[in-house]
Amino acid sequence: MKTIIEPFRIKVVEPIRMTTPAEREEILLNAGYNLFMIKSDDILIDLLTDSGTAAMSDSQWACIMRGDESYAGARSFYKFFDVVQAITGFKHIIPTHQGRAAERILFEIIAKPGTYFPSNTHFDTTRANIEYHNANAVDLVIPEGKDPKVIHPFKGNIDLTRLEKFIDDTDPDNIPICMLTVTNNSGGGQPVSLENIRATKRLLERYKIPLFLDACRFAENAYFIKKREPGYGDKLCIDIAREMFSYADGCTMSAKKDALVNIGGFLALNDDTLATKARNVLIVTEGFPTYGGLAGRDLEAIAQGLQEVLDEDYLHYRIRTVEYMAEQLDRLGVPYLKPAGGHAIYLDAKEFVPHIPPEQFPGQAIACALYLDGGIRSCEIGSIMFGKTDPLTKSHIGPDMELVRLAFPRRVYTQSHFDYTVEVIGKVFEKRDQLRGFRFTYEAPMLRHFTAQFEKV
Ligand SMILES: *Cc1c(COP(=O)(O)O)cnc(C)c1O
Repeated sequence: MKTIIEPFRIKVVEPIRMTTPAEREEILLNAGYNLFMIKSDDILIDLLTDSGTAAMSDSQWACIMRGDESYAGARSFYKFFDVVQAITGFKHIIPTHQGRAAERILFEIIAKPGTYFPSNTHFDTTRANIEYHNANAVDLVIPEGKDPKVIHPFKGNIDLTRLEKFIDDTDPDNIPICMLTVTNNSGGGQPVSLENIRATKRLLERYKIPLFLDACRFAENAYFIKKREPGYGDKLCIDIAREMFSYADGCTMSAKKDALVNIGGFLALNDDTLATKARNVLIVTEGFPTYGGLAGRDLEAIAQGLQEVLDEDYLHYRIRTVEYMAEQLDRLGVPYLKPAGGHAIYLDAKEFVPHIPPEQFPGQAIACALYLDGGIRSCEIGSIMFGKTDPLTKSHIGPDMELVRLAFPRRVYTQSHFDYTVEVIGKVFEKRDQLRGFRFTYEAPMLRHFTAQFEKV
């Protein structure tokens, strides 16, 4: 098989500022060992997130010039509307400035105190928006989805047996909607099968509970279905995506992922009453319904990006990039969440540094070492992001997995950047016994990973 090349040529470049290990040591100390606190100029390869970090195409940049900035009824809105509707089929499409704004509006109108929101796994902003209303975010991913070593084609699937039992035990009237995150970001970028989406819908229908997709990576999910689900190998990703959305009553979307833009999102849904309520909140907090929280040019670029992301060659290259890196890590024996997901490699910190207990943040120890050694920025997805302190016993309650996410910005880095990243991971892995854990010196009450400060244990 020939090398799968980046299916684009580079027309504009952005220089990377080189730094030395000594400089990085000081930078890391000044940042309180929180990689979110480091200036991007001090990063060599930024794999903190794939969110809003895509390189736009020449066509998208042309869209930026073509944007219609009319306050109401802008041409760019109708272009955006038509493209989103052609893919999702939803009746109402409400633009927002990013994914969490769509979440905030949705949960403001449906989350009453004491209600429950089951999902395969809620993303951190989704969970925060639910808990903000004193409602409960419930993760019901299949057991395979919680074990980094188990190979399963659709580790993002929701556990239908547990979902049914949960609905019966909870009372369906207390469950405004059920969600499926495609792909499952917090669970390792793992896909959800069409069979699972269809069966979830069928189950929910019996209880009249609507299904919403957190659709941030719908195109990557569609590609996995094409590659892994029997009967879909010859289908186009656009048709698979349409079928995914056909089982849902609505979706939230961060355009910063699979719409290949740097800002934007939307809430889409079929229910007229909910849509009216959502637009009323939108007008107060985001903007008029034909621009939401965005400029006309942004809507235009999203419309173009949503078409480019469904290009079969693009998706082939995209998923192959992650797979390629996984193969290199296999060669070195580095533990990571298997199989590799759609937008990132998730190092398995529990296996990588078994001598660091969860309450000392093993993922953070690795993330800091990758920065120190190679200037690479990654993101801890473990006890810092999802851990809690038991209010009674004061003991640490950690999530099932301790992960370090290396997320791949779309169309930004080349194969040599990934080869370099593997070399750095290999070097850190060789000296893993020397890594030490961390403790908080500052911790915010919500979404603490963004602003926390640490010291070495
Ligand atoms: C990024 C993300 C969000 C939130 O979107 P923002 O644009 O960052 O506000 C929600 N859900 C998932 C699965 C995400 O990856």
